[in-house]
Amino acid sequence: MSDPHFQRVALIGIGLIGSSLARVIREKGLAETITISTRSAPTLARAEELGLGDRYCLSAADAVKDADLVVVSVPVGASEEVAKTIAPHLKRGAILTDVGSTKGSVVSQMAPHVPEGVHFIPGHPIAGTEHSGPDAGFAALFQNRWCILTPMPDTDAGAIEKLAAFWTACGSNVDTMDPQHHDLVLAIVSHLPHIIAYNIVGTADDLQTVTKSEVIKYSASGFRDFTRLAASDPTMWRDVCLHNKDAILEMLSRFSEDLSALQRAIRWGDGQALFDLFTRTRGIRRSIIEAGQETPAPDFGRQAAAPGAGE
Ligand code: NAP
Repeated sequence: MSDPHFQRVALIGIGLIGSSLARVIREKGLAETITISTRSAPTLARAEELGLGDRYCLSAADAVKDADLVVVSVPVGASEEVAKTIAPHLKRGAILTDVGSTKGSVVSQMAPHVPEGVHFIPGHPIAGTEHSGPDAGFAALFQNRWCILTPMPDTDAGAIEKLAAFWTACGSNVDTMDPQHHDLVLAIVSHLPHIIAYNIVGTADDLQTVTKSEVIKYSASGFRDFTRLAASDPTMWRDVCLHNKDAILEMLSRFSEDLSALQRAIRWGDGQALFDLFTRTRGIRRSIIEAGQETPAPDFGRQAAAPGAGE
């Protein structure tokens, strides 16, 4: 196993993910120094107030000079701009990674700018909450969650191992796959559920004018569970939709077909079809609990504010 420790880490973007990384790096002693950079002065000032790093700079170019590990944690639509800004200043031998929720698009935005001698290894921790900004992060976010790395075919194996060791030290289990496969998998496990949640909450909001406050009042009957996902960061999710378009459209058309079949079963009173589907899906939840990715506690385990309860 490689040494997970880095001399100098630069975190570009210090929201939920960046600040969780800063906290876990500090807690586990995974770097000698942490340099933090973000585009706005108020966010940088807040990161400093929270004591998340050792150095703070508005210039991402300055932040990455001398860094052995650079982690870009910004909305995926900003990846190219950030890559262009930092590329000329990256140290030879440094590892450059990101945490973006889409991978094919991040690779095409960033890879062309990465200089020779820098190890570019895109990544995605499958951990998150609906909260944003430097206050939202916590050190345990990545604990027992998966982190997917999508290295290029010619990426140095030692660098991949080192980054994998780093994520393992952060508490994650690490998988590698190609970016296209990542995008397809995430379209169904993450992107589609968020889109469905945004849609159902939007529909209910339209109805609210008819049913007054009843949607809110009786929300514990199921609706409430969608509102957590639908409260996720609008910028992040706009970018996910725009940057994983093909895989999301593919999954949406599968979803629409299955929804039509469900609609037909309800219309024709096909109780057996409904019962069979609902039994199958209940089994999926059981498997997720058995895999340690959810707790069996009532209220979806959220009374205990389960860390990393979803992306
Ligand atoms: P966040 O809390 O909203 O923080 C975003 C950070 O990016 C802030 O430092 C912000 O800077 C900066 N930023 C925003 N727009 C930018 C732009 N156009 N150019 C440069 N910097 C910009 O976001 P997050 O939840 O940490 O998400 C960061 C990345 O992680 C995203 O790519 C997301 O897809 C991925 N991710 C998120 C989750 C999740 O559940 N949230 C889970 C896994 C992966 P200022 O505040 O200074 O403007």
